Amino acid sequence: MTDADAAAAGRYRIGLDLGSTASKGVILGPDGAVLAREIVPSGHTPAETAARLAERLTGGLDVPPDRLGAVATGYGRNMASLAQKKITEITCHAKGVRHLHPDAASILDIGGQDAKAIRLGPDGGVMDFAMNDRCAAGTGRFLEVAARRFDLGVEELSAFCLDDPVGDGDGPELEISSTCVVFAESELVGLAARGVPPIDALRAVHRAIARRVILLLKQVGATEPVYFTGGVAQNETLRRAVAAAAGMEVRTAASPQFTGAIGAALLA
Ligand code: ADP
Repeated sequence: MTDADAAAAGRYRIGLDLGSTASKGVILGPDGAVLAREIVPSGHTPAETAARLAERLTGGLDVPPDRLGAVATGYGRNMASLAQKKITEITCHAKGVRHLHPDAASILDIGGQDAKAIRLGPDGGVMDFAMNDRCAAGTGRFLEVAARRFDLGVEELSAFCLDDPVGDGDGPELEISSTCVVFAESELVGLAARGVPPIDALRAVHRAIARRVILLLKQVGATEPVYFTGGVAQNETLRRAVAAAAGMEVRTAASPQFTGAIGAALLA
């Protein structure tokens, strides 16, 4: 349904992005405005998570069921029986980002368990995409492990090395090279044992993730500007590290963790 059709029919549209780590939902009113958004941990049963999200999104609104459409995306999408359609994250991110940022040429999405790069065509269609869901050291999972080691919240990591994401110690002795997050954590332990200050270790963490995700950007032949989405896009230090490593303009998308859900709602 187009935005104009939705407005004419007085339709409300729900988009659910049932991710591996976090589940996000938005509801659009008939005029296409975001009326509410919700985020909950994904848990083990995507069907229940989807129902809980939908309930929260419609809670304060008096929406007749025949005026409500829902689309699900993300890992758990096929379990969301309440959604009439299931659409891949690639399509939903492309739709959401292009809606929010008409100039977007490419997308870098980093979530809790995977990372994706998408190259968009002039009309916003997906020209190419690449995904890494094998190596958790290039995803939010590594940030979570690193945060725990330093007794920090994942949202606190960025501020530590924001002024100088790359730092001076960019030599091989300060590289984290493991692709497996378990071994990458062992490398962090090794850095601590050698007396490397936390700020340098955290710079190495950001650089390691940046080094991995720029391979995806290269693989799809990404062009500028690249919009950064996913929960990890809230980490400004990582945005700077990726921009520096790729030598490209990388911008944080608006509401970066919700772009997939917004795209899904627009496609409902
Ligand atoms: P998924 O769709 O795979 O579940 P999301 O795109 O929702 O993933 O992102 C979840 C990831 O974002 C988690 O690894 C989480 O630690 C990370 N994250 C959440 N908030 C922040 C933040 N403020 N800074 C950096 N990372 C964050």
